[in-house]
Amino acid sequence: MNEIGIVERIRQMAEVSTQHARVRAPHLILGIGDDCAIFRPRDGEDLLFTTDQMIEDVHFRSTHKAAMIGERALARSLSDIAAMGGEPRFCLVALATPEKNEKWIEAFYRGLLRLAKRTGTVPAGGDLAHSGNDKTHCDVMVCGAVKRGRALRRDGARVGDAIFVSGRLGKPWDRKIEPRLALGQSLVGRATACIDLSDGLSLDLYRLCVASGVAAEIDRVPVVRGATVERALHGGEDYELLFTLPAKARTLAGTTRIGTVVRGSPGEMMFLGRRLEPRGYDHFK
Ligand SMILES: [Mg+2]
Repeated sequence: MNEIGIVERIRQMAEVSTQHARVRAPHLILGIGDDCAIFRPRDGEDLLFTTDQMIEDVHFRSTHKAAMIGERALARSLSDIAAMGGEPRFCLVALATPEKNEKWIEAFYRGLLRLAKRTGTVPAGGDLAHSGNDKTHCDVMVCGAVKRGRALRRDGARVGDAIFVSGRLGKPWDRKIEPRLALGQSLVGRATACIDLSDGLSLDLYRLCVASGVAAEIDRVPVVRGATVERALHGGEDYELLFTLPAKARTLAGTTRIGTVVRGSPGEMMFLGRRLEPRGYDHFK
């Protein structure tokens, strides 16, 4: 199959996955097939944009299944939309692979489109290229929407707020990511700050605290079976939500209260009375 053939095949696959989603995304005026997609936002909405790269030997190995890599590539960006309290609208997918890889590309899209369909994310276009070496690289951009002025941000935590996480932390890499879209949307108007856990609790909590100009005290961490507390604190790739609620708010189903926002130098964190350093995944370390 040549490039036109592959693109046509992806377009067909996307079409099938869109048929269901289009009901929820009539504002996509023009999808795959022209030079650009056309999207007409609704009145009273703010649009959210995020992009996330996955690079072979950095974020995944060639031994991982293509469908899983595709699903994960979209899930990571959807997790960012969830963190802002948004509803996904559409995605653009840029993929570069070694030559002669049609089967792999198709499987990659199959995984990605399955999640797109399930979350109402319309595949609106993208780009396909040969990577020029033996490595695969992909970049998924997602546009989401939230009521004007209502997006959850990481800079609103206040002294006295309670700190929560969803799910359990310390998951292994190959555990499926379930972007917490419904939870994120339910936090709009309630949470004072929110961030998704993409690089480990300690690093993402640090980011939230610095953005909000506050410190944090953590006294418990929900850990997945088989993982250590150390991994739950510093391992990456959990894609759960970390958020703050006013002190008196009740705990939401599927979430755990892990600590409190306190006064202190921005980003200072304590875990069970000891200093907690931000040691999550940092690409530039
Ligand atoms: Mg994020």
